[in-house]
Amino acid sequence: MMPVRRLLLVGLLVSALAACRGAGMPPASPGSSVAPTGTPAPSSGQRVVVVASLPIFATMVEAVGGDLVEVSAVMPPGTDPHTYQPTPRDVAKLAEAALVVYNGGELDPWMERQIEAVGSRAQVVVLSQGLEPPPEVTQEEEHLNETPAAEHDHGVNPHFWLDPDFAIVYVQRIAEGLATVDPAHAETYRANAERYASEIRAFDAWAKEQIATIPPERRKLVTFHDAFPYFAAHYGLELVGVVILSPGREP
Ligand SMILES: [Zn+2]
Repeated sequence: MMPVRRLLLVGLLVSALAACRGAGMPPASPGSSVAPTGTPAPSSGQRVVVVASLPIFATMVEAVGGDLVEVSAVMPPGTDPHTYQPTPRDVAKLAEAALVVYNGGELDPWMERQIEAVGSRAQVVVLSQGLEPPPEVTQEEEHLNETPAAEHDHGVNPHFWLDPDFAIVYVQRIAEGLATVDPAHAETYRANAERYASEIRAFDAWAKEQIATIPPERRKLVTFHDAFPYFAAHYGLELVGVVILSPGREP
């Protein structure tokens, strides 16, 4: 019992850090999802240049695009997206991008400004566009915000991809974005996206098994940053506290 629980806690801690520091969730099996099948990879000069706001989204693009894309993230790893200010060096690639992907909402608001600033004509995919928080999350957020120290209005919590079902939506949107800018390889992008989605589903099933080993009354979650309401709702965890309610604020 204990080692499993400890493992889960470590896992949550690592993902919590990754979620907000932009380090990204490691793929279930590194490297296995990035090799496109069928079509030979074009020379690097012909790769589709893709720019993502955060490293985690660049990881998704790589899984879908494989050798057909050249992807980079604007935000360096280890940075807090909420308070980040891009430098000219960070956005240098943006001007030549054929496809730009970012989360939207309060996660990476600087991205839209930068796309405009460099006069980008890229196809833009806003990964969280139109996604609706499950009703239990809306209530949970209100409850957390009632705590005395809280006065911020976070709007819609933007961290949708930490629910695996939403992560799959992100991956599918990336595949459609790539298919739009590079229709010749549309089938490859869709096949890669489907394979990556299967990996996410397998991971999800494994995670549910692990959480099932925790007695129901102890399925409680405390996170550093308020990035996990969708994760908690998906896995039936009760979000009982957040250390830093809004970015940059002292605990
Ligand atoms: Zn965040």
